[in-house]
Amino acid sequence: MQNALEFKNLKFSYGTTPVLDLKDFEVKSGEIVFLFGPSGSGKSTLLELIAGVLQVQSGDLKVLGESFAQKKSSGLDQFRADHIGYIFQSFNLIPYLSVTENLLLPLMFSNQELDQARFDKLVNELGLRPFLNRAVTDLSVGQQQRVAAARALLKKPKVILADEPTSALDYDHREKFLELLFHFCREDQTTVLFVSHDRTIEKLFDRSISLQALNSVHMKTEALV
Ligand code: ADP
Ligand code: MG
Repeated sequence: MQNALEFKNLKFSYGTTPVLDLKDFEVKSGEIVFLFGPSGSGKSTLLELIAGVLQVQSGDLKVLGESFAQKKSSGLDQFRADHIGYIFQSFNLIPYLSVTENLLLPLMFSNQELDQARFDKLVNELGLRPFLNRAVTDLSVGQQQRVAAARALLKKPKVILADEPTSALDYDHREKFLELLFHFCREDQTTVLFVSHDRTIEKLFDRSISLQALNSVHMKTEALV
């Protein structure tokens, strides 16, 4: 089976401050992986590298078999739009747009047409039908989170990157949300890399890894967990 994510000697610094130095790491296609580490350990930085928001400085990163080391930022943006669904910690929904408009937004940047059957399936199974015309600011946190998941899933991405999107929910809601998300990902063989400081959810994943164990840079982190 092909690896969806692969990195070798991947290093990243903000200015002169090193944050990541990861020797070897692979995620197989279709695997649902949990990467944990305390606040400040570099989780968001790593996801931003894989999403192509940050550029590789040293070493190699391959996403879906494509090496990112030589790609320019325009190429990375297009690759992200076509293949990667990103679920942000704060959801990054556009406040003045409706739920439908938020859901359709990523399609404007990708080469894909709207798949109406997929839209309907996501909206129905994530319970968003009653809210489609509402402004996202009128929704509860749990509803906003489901909009963020549907938005990331709509283009049927090969990879989902999730940055602590459950931290605002209580355990039962977190578990329900993850079950729904994984249901779609397993059906589509989508690879998931989910980062969080919250290890109570790790048993729901295929595999769980400590970022600090992978990383040779020992960051001064906040001792949250
Ligand atoms: P996590 O997501 O695990 O909390 P981050 O990747 O956000 O960790 O941050 C890792 C380290 O990099 C922290 O020390 C943080 O302060 C620093 N950092 C994050 N973003 C920037 C930035 N844009 N510029 C400089 N330092 C940053
Ligand atoms: Mg973070």
